[in-house]
Amino acid sequence: MNNKKNIILLGATGSIGESSLRLLRKNKEKFNLVGVSAHNNVELLSKIVNEFDVPNVVLSDPKNAKSYYGKNELYVGHSSLIELAKIKCDVVISGLIGISGLYPAFAAISAGNNLAIANKETLVSAGKIFMKKSLEKKVKILPVDSEHSAIFQCLEKNNITNLDFITLTASGGPFLNMPIEKFKNIKPKDAIKHPVWKMGQKISVDSATMFNKALEIIEASVLFNIESDKIEVAVHPEHIIHGLVHYKDGSILANLGFPDMITPLSVALNWPARIDLNLKKLSLNKISNLSFFEPDFKKFPGLKLGWEVLQNPDYSPIILNASNEIAVDAFLKNKVKFTDIYNIVYETLNFCNPSVPQNIDDIIEIDKLSRMNALNLIKRKFYK
Ligand code: NDP
Ligand code: MG
Repeated sequence: MNNKKNIILLGATGSIGESSLRLLRKNKEKFNLVGVSAHNNVELLSKIVNEFDVPNVVLSDPKNAKSYYGKNELYVGHSSLIELAKIKCDVVISGLIGISGLYPAFAAISAGNNLAIANKETLVSAGKIFMKKSLEKKVKILPVDSEHSAIFQCLEKNNITNLDFITLTASGGPFLNMPIEKFKNIKPKDAIKHPVWKMGQKISVDSATMFNKALEIIEASVLFNIESDKIEVAVHPEHIIHGLVHYKDGSILANLGFPDMITPLSVALNWPARIDLNLKKLSLNKISNLSFFEPDFKKFPGLKLGWEVLQNPDYSPIILNASNEIAVDAFLKNKVKFTDIYNIVYETLNFCNPSVPQNIDDIIEIDKLSRMNALNLIKRKFYK
């Protein structure tokens, strides 16, 4: 009997894609890769298809399709990506980036597939609708973000009423110790060098501004149905402890591990079972020092917005996410200063006042409007 789990990997050519493929490669007897997508990187996509003999293949941006040399047929375009996510399987992994992951992930759960989600922007923008749909379809939404995987593992479902608060740790990014006066001169090439994790450019800039942690506060509030005042952030540069759950009796459960996305991915794909990944062993005796700090909100004002937008949880997170994506893109293209990323998001949040979205299309509308406002703001005020 074939007990292998069938996996579809959206965003196979990215950093989450790479960690997922490492996990699948090590465990070929446990997993079948039945679908993959990439956006532009047709060279790597072809290699992946040939290595894993993946039957369903999508390149979401058609422009490089001619260079495809994988052995199985290629489908192109965003609609093919959505169709891919609907193919019946055990788990769809979403390693897509930004709001591009919204429709495919929603298609996956609507079709009855479990979803292992790294793409936090989707949950930030449409978390409530996703959680409702997952209940309706009886599918699991399994967190891949390391902090959320930590909380997921420490949460005892029968003890949820005794939960006091949770702590999300933050590495603090590359500029943790840089004097604030130097922030305005930060260049893209420095912002994408993360001290702990090797990740895609967008999330690396988010880590540098600590907007990543703001997104994670929102992500946690959605995934675990926790109010914002029950979410604490602690800066922990070594990033060995990923998250803590504090119970009212004073007991605290923490999740530790070396920073490697293979572990949260394995938790998500195997839950509630665990498998042997044969990784380097972590010994507390060999770790000389673990440090913790309060976040510096003057240097990282974006972090505070994570709590603030949860006062209007239906639409403010959408605006925050959309304007941040626009601001990060403009920063990476050298059009705006590093410190203006926060200013653009803050001003867009104050400018937009949409009504409460009822469905995914409403969310996309608010997202589009916020992007337009953020772009106009950049042109009017922040262009370098
Ligand atoms: P990458 O930039 O490394 O990879 C993104 C992937 O999505 C690539 O496969 C890329 O294809 C594809 N892609 C890019 N743009 C589009 C688009 N418009 N439509 C469809 N597909 C697209 O990102 P990461 O892997 O670092 O991050 C992915 C998600 O996971 C993000 O939401 C991030 O916040 C989250 N995350 C990442 C972590 C990490 O360790 N990297 C940790 C926790 C969360 P191509 O390569 O062909 O361009
Ligand atoms: Mg994280």
